[in-house]
Amino acid sequence: MTETLKKIGHISIQGITKKFGLDYALKDIHLEIPAGSVTVILGPSGSGKTTLLRTINRLEKADEGVIQIDDEFMGYRLKNDTLYELKEKDVLKQRIHVGYVFQNFNLFPHLTVLQNIIEAPLAHLDISKAEAIEKAKKLLASVGLADKVDAWPQQLSGGQQQRVAIARTLALDPKVILFDEPTSALDPELVGEVLSVIKQLAKLGKTMVVVTHEIGFAKEVADYVVFMDKGTVIEHGSADAVLNRPQEERTKSFLSKVI
Ligand code: ADP
Ligand code: MG
Repeated sequence: MTETLKKIGHISIQGITKKFGLDYALKDIHLEIPAGSVTVILGPSGSGKTTLLRTINRLEKADEGVIQIDDEFMGYRLKNDTLYELKEKDVLKQRIHVGYVFQNFNLFPHLTVLQNIIEAPLAHLDISKAEAIEKAKKLLASVGLADKVDAWPQQLSGGQQQRVAIARTLALDPKVILFDEPTSALDPELVGEVLSVIKQLAKLGKTMVVVTHEIGFAKEVADYVVFMDKGTVIEHGSADAVLNRPQEERTKSFLSKVI
């Protein structure tokens, strides 16, 4: 993991509202996530955490509001002060640089570990197969899986699969990485190996947004913590402030249950 230390990937969430039918999944969310920071999102089930992550990389279209990553509007192109909606193929191009790590790893079962990692770079980056393979091997080594290049996903533990999924995301040189409960499908003894890979990334200055219930990880690694409930941001601030001196009753009550 010898990535650039240059700070890229400022995420600006401006008035995002998302409804499913008549129900609000997100209500007027405003957040600024500084480039190079680690932000942990906490909140009870159904509070809108996944929907917010999916909205950031435009897997979900917001009903209102916009999201900017550096100077790009997700899902839009700005021309003469007007936002024009992008076609799906152009949204896909934007999404390539917004890494997403899923709770259930989502590796392609019919591809080997190496094939899983080189597939997207070969399709979307200007890179030769030899270069893609070399990069994939380096990334696998950096997540401690140099010996699993030719393994199949089903031969790996959950923790190993998730580390492959992280390497796969890194292979696209993302500006930001979004993690949706990356350890919640893992047996307890495998959680640590995945968190330590994420910690390693944090040290490199990647912008990361991590939905997790691992408060210890948040205390150790997060710069900022956002607490959500019922589609709104109840409280946000430095990790120290929100975790150690929460101001809102709902935050206090949530933290007392998960710690
Ligand atoms: P969390 O990740 O915090 O558990 P979600 O973002 O998954 O919360 O869900 C927020 C709310 O939006 C929930 O009430 C959920 O049922 C609803 N929701 C999420 N996705 C959909 C969908 N595709 N269709 C309908 N309702 C949805
Ligand atoms: Mg969720």
